[in-house]
Amino acid sequence: MSVPEKSAGGFDTRAIHAGQAFDPTTGAVIPPVYLTSTYVQDGIGGLRNGYEYSRGGNPTRTALETQLAALEGGIRGLSFASGLAAEDALLRTVLRPGDHVVIGNDVYGGTHRLIRRIFGEWGVTHSTVDTSDVAAVEAAIELGTTKVLWVETPSNPLMKISDIAALAEVGHEAGLVTVVDNTFASPALQQPISLGADVIVHSTTKYLGGHSDVIGGALVFAAGQEELAERVEFTQFAAGAVSGPFDAFLTSRGIKTLGIRMQRHSSNAHAIAERLVGHPGVARVLYPGLPTHPGHELAARQMSGFGGMISIELAGGAAAARRFAESTRVFQLAESLGGVESLVNYPSEMTHASVRGTEAEVPESIVRLSVGIEDVDDLLADIDQALAAL
Ligand SMILES: *Cc1c(COP(=O)(O)O)cnc(C)c1O
Repeated sequence: MSVPEKSAGGFDTRAIHAGQAFDPTTGAVIPPVYLTSTYVQDGIGGLRNGYEYSRGGNPTRTALETQLAALEGGIRGLSFASGLAAEDALLRTVLRPGDHVVIGNDVYGGTHRLIRRIFGEWGVTHSTVDTSDVAAVEAAIELGTTKVLWVETPSNPLMKISDIAALAEVGHEAGLVTVVDNTFASPALQQPISLGADVIVHSTTKYLGGHSDVIGGALVFAAGQEELAERVEFTQFAAGAVSGPFDAFLTSRGIKTLGIRMQRHSSNAHAIAERLVGHPGVARVLYPGLPTHPGHELAARQMSGFGGMISIELAGGAAAARRFAESTRVFQLAESLGGVESLVNYPSEMTHASVRGTEAEVPESIVRLSVGIEDVDDLLADIDQALAAL
């Protein structure tokens, strides 16, 4: 019997098959979950397929890492216990005291906190800039000292769009590592490696897992970054923030429906964004799918869909934003995003509370929606009743 090439084909075929070959012993369609910490050796040092101890390697994690690399078009995927654990392993490997990072002024609050509070203590400095402004990024780079350019697009929570291809070119000229956090778009809608990015970061907790039932993170390396991938793999092993086998299984399972979920997230979000536009209580709707969004044309070029995230600026400021966030019923009030269920978040006191008072502070009039894949009519009715309560 011939085994099909598991990493070939279109995006959905790779999402379902890469790394997910059936079990050769029983024919089980789904590869087993290897709930084991260690592996019997055939004599001292006689390892079966290289497996020795599950911090160093576990077949369920290997299956996920193969799937991740195939999704992003990279040469290597690494899976971690959380998105921030993945970021930490990458930054720890690349940065030394005295180095400098250029980071978007509108990134995930926890990323900013990690660089400012943890790496800051170790003598790493950073500049926050609007990465949708390529000239501002160029100006912030200190040649020879800046080692990492950190880009998040669409950004969180202001939904700014940054030009990945242009930024990667700037990064390459400066000899630094260009990192793209692809959590918001997911590889179903945006392929940063094909645009020149060196390393992709994910919180797989979000769209990749897709069901709000597991915390996880990932790194994927572009061709040409083999040496860096090996060094980060050593950090993963030596520092140990790996994903456990059951978490890896849940993430692999979620990934198989990523393509179809992102279509529905995008179409539901588009309908809601259009409903919100023009309502007197809404000052601005930040959704890259709207032609009025300043990043719309760029998003249409570098993304194949506009995704499920919307931010809204309420005309009535903080009080109205809080009232809206506490009035929705189908949209549940919670941090996080990317699951099948719709969530509403008040960034300035929830996801982005850690950046209050810093240069990355989020306005108090902003509410963020993670639009799920429920029936769109139910979501629209929920938005209507929350707007009526303003
Ligand atoms: C959630 C998130 C992270 C951090 O991931 P965790 O899995 O929570 O550690 C990083 N980047 C973005 C864009 C996120 O939304």
